[in-house]
Amino acid sequence: MNDLFAQRVNPDVSSALAGLFPQDPNPTAVTFAAGSPNEQLFPVKEVQAAFNTAIDTQGAHLFQYQSAQGNSALREKLVTRIAKWGNVTTTADNILLTVGGQQGVELVAKTLLNPGDDIIVEVPTYIGALAAFDLYQPHYHAVPLQADGLDLDVLETTLQQHPNVKLLYTVPDYHNPTGITMSVAKRQQLVALANRYHFIILEDTPYRDLGYEGAPLPAIKSFDTEGRVIFLSSFSKILMPALRTGWLIADGELRDAILKMRLASDLETTGVIHAAINAYLDANDLDAHIQRMTTHYKQQRDAMLQSLTHYFPDEALFTHPAGGFFDWVTLPQDIDTGRLMLDIISPQAHVTYVPATNFYPQRDVHNALRLSFSGVNPTQIDAGMHRLGDQLKNAVHA
Ligand code: PMP
Repeated sequence: MNDLFAQRVNPDVSSALAGLFPQDPNPTAVTFAAGSPNEQLFPVKEVQAAFNTAIDTQGAHLFQYQSAQGNSALREKLVTRIAKWGNVTTTADNILLTVGGQQGVELVAKTLLNPGDDIIVEVPTYIGALAAFDLYQPHYHAVPLQADGLDLDVLETTLQQHPNVKLLYTVPDYHNPTGITMSVAKRQQLVALANRYHFIILEDTPYRDLGYEGAPLPAIKSFDTEGRVIFLSSFSKILMPALRTGWLIADGELRDAILKMRLASDLETTGVIHAAINAYLDANDLDAHIQRMTTHYKQQRDAMLQSLTHYFPDEALFTHPAGGFFDWVTLPQDIDTGRLMLDIISPQAHVTYVPATNFYPQRDVHNALRLSFSGVNPTQIDAGMHRLGDQLKNAVHA
């Protein structure tokens, strides 16, 4: 039947996303592939109580059609939260609750992109964003990341060559897949470039609360003077992903246009869940919960950095994430991490990671990989990284 499918049904992308959750029946298998949070840290009892509170308080009305923008009490809380933790001044009216951050990315793409439109992504970049953008068949321009975020010189050259760029997508905090954080100076300069070259920035930041070395930096949105920055975050990593609740901040006509797209997609938000999250926030200290999580994740991060030093070949370069879930490893040019995982590492070492190609719009980089430390404990990390490191040494020194 696939001759009947639209061009946007791109086989490369769907297989890349599906590949994030490979199943290995071997009981000692260790997955560094999926960027899933550690479910032992989920506040299950508290969220269960919050659902009960929401139902007890609102009864049948809770299950009625509600609002396309989402629960207003929850949006008010987010206004306060982002003022405190991101330096962003906004109103509940400019906030839209979404079905995960992923829907936010897709709604922005749907709002802005016609086939062939120029967009800029940092590389490597989030697979799910490429999957969402691919649906709208844009013309990608890739700008590399440096240790302190986007390479702004390359960005400016790209903008001079392609002055019609509409959208720039960035994950400035504890980036997926590299763990890199954009400096404050670059955040400011990026907004200045957006003003000068007239494009919109999508600031996607689901990990910003999960810092292991200090408080989050001011959001890019905090430097926005012309309503050009769409800020996007999510409860997936700080509460639970299955709540499927993200939120975005967009101003004025941009907000109205995104809201129009959302009405066509799914009419409105999942109000029952948002009422429960609101009740959870009334009854619990979210920041204390985040603090507990970061204490654990920091141990996992430290275990991964230590094992990278111990077990990986000297030729491997790796990042030092100050938060989030990921580390990015670059190997010598001739190593193809995709082929290596399928042929040797997964079947023999029972370890998985995500090969670099998936994070590049042109799928043209092969010698790097993403490791996620979020869903594995330090003992598993040590065992899995030992096996992975041994295989990588064999491959590099072959
Ligand atoms: N953006 C980034 C950078 C992500 O890493 C993720 C999740 N892996 C998302 C968006 C989407 O997350 P969710 O839809 O669960 O909020």
